Amino acid sequence: MRAQDFGLTKEKIMEIADKYMIHTNDRFSLVAETAKDLEIKDVGGEAYLDFFAGIAVNSAGNNNEKVVEAIKEQADCILHTSLYPYSVPQALLARLICETLGYQKIFFQNSGTEANEAMIKMARKYGVENYGEHRYHIVSARKSFHGRTYGSLSATGQPDNACQTGLKPMLPGFSYADFNHLESFRNACTEDTIAIMLEPIQGEAGVYPATQEFMRGIRRLCDEKKLLLLFDEVQTGWCRTGETMGYMHYGIKPDIVTMAKGMGGGMPIGAVCTSEKISNVLTGGTHASTYGGNPVCCAAAYAQINELLKRGLAKNAKYVGEYFMGELKDLPKVKEVRGKGLLIAVEFEEVDAVLLKHVAQHNKLLITATSENTIRMVPPLIATKADCDNAYSILKASLISMEKLEGGSR
Ligand code: PLP
Repeated sequence: MRAQDFGLTKEKIMEIADKYMIHTNDRFSLVAETAKDLEIKDVGGEAYLDFFAGIAVNSAGNNNEKVVEAIKEQADCILHTSLYPYSVPQALLARLICETLGYQKIFFQNSGTEANEAMIKMARKYGVENYGEHRYHIVSARKSFHGRTYGSLSATGQPDNACQTGLKPMLPGFSYADFNHLESFRNACTEDTIAIMLEPIQGEAGVYPATQEFMRGIRRLCDEKKLLLLFDEVQTGWCRTGETMGYMHYGIKPDIVTMAKGMGGGMPIGAVCTSEKISNVLTGGTHASTYGGNPVCCAAAYAQINELLKRGLAKNAKYVGEYFMGELKDLPKVKEVRGKGLLIAVEFEEVDAVLLKHVAQHNKLLITATSENTIRMVPPLIATKADCDNAYSILKASLISMEKLEGGSR
């Protein structure tokens, strides 16, 4: 749908949306109408450099040709089946993911939070069936983010954050320990604990990578205490961090892993992967999904994952990400640059990150803010050094203009 087909201006579209939609985000003041690779065009044709990729989703580029083609072809065949009939895209995607990652089984969901719900259910049922009624507790990390449905939200270790405010009580059976602090996790595990749940890099918290020592220690702790290790790779999965999955940086493997965002090329899909033994706890009635494994989403994900793998975009993310992180350190007022691959945060001394996001947008660069002083950049993984140079120049000019404004207002 295009504004001109309805005789509408950008302002009118925003006015209609503001009147009828429940906004829970600080929205960009642009109406995204078309996109290609790293460029998003507004109604009216203004072009923006995309360093947010729809929140780490459009990893093979906005409107990747192969993904769009796959969606069109599948839409011509069959739009929706549910999980009753078999379908070609479901079967081929299941095989591609399981064989690429070395897992035996997959269940498809529609989003990251749903994939985490399925993972939590699997772990709890596995614990209860194998060790007794009491053993369903999960320890996750403080400052983690696992999604906004109640199971995933309860696993999210942010009791004082807006994401849980007014929504208590959370579900029982969750407790929290300090990220990158093995002893804290060891102390939090009791005889009721069945699993430890982690993001390999805490994304929403402001991009904090786990250390090698911590990750290896956590794997050992899980083996020692017969705990399942659950990884939420909704944001870090599928090449974003410079490896196919984030856990691959650490030479360890989780017992269950979730994914979403970058796997679908822009279509809503998530998944949970595990071993045959653990997957067996999900029996008829325990779990299901009407749209999970939707054929159009699976066809898009099949094309997207093939693009990511065949074009070596993990390697590109690593190479370009390292270059960009080096460059970002030279920005004014930088306190710390954190990240892996093209999942990058810049924390500033006394810079209003939300204001910087808006000034950057005014200067035609799209980024997001994760906290008061921190911005996050997650461009499509096809980004080049030249794209990073452009983003850097815009950020620098934005920071300088903000400084001038501050000086002028004193
Ligand atoms: N898990 C992590 C690590 C995430 O970063 C997010 C979203 O940002 C989610 C889960 C939730 O995913 P979704 O918004 O697709 O439900």
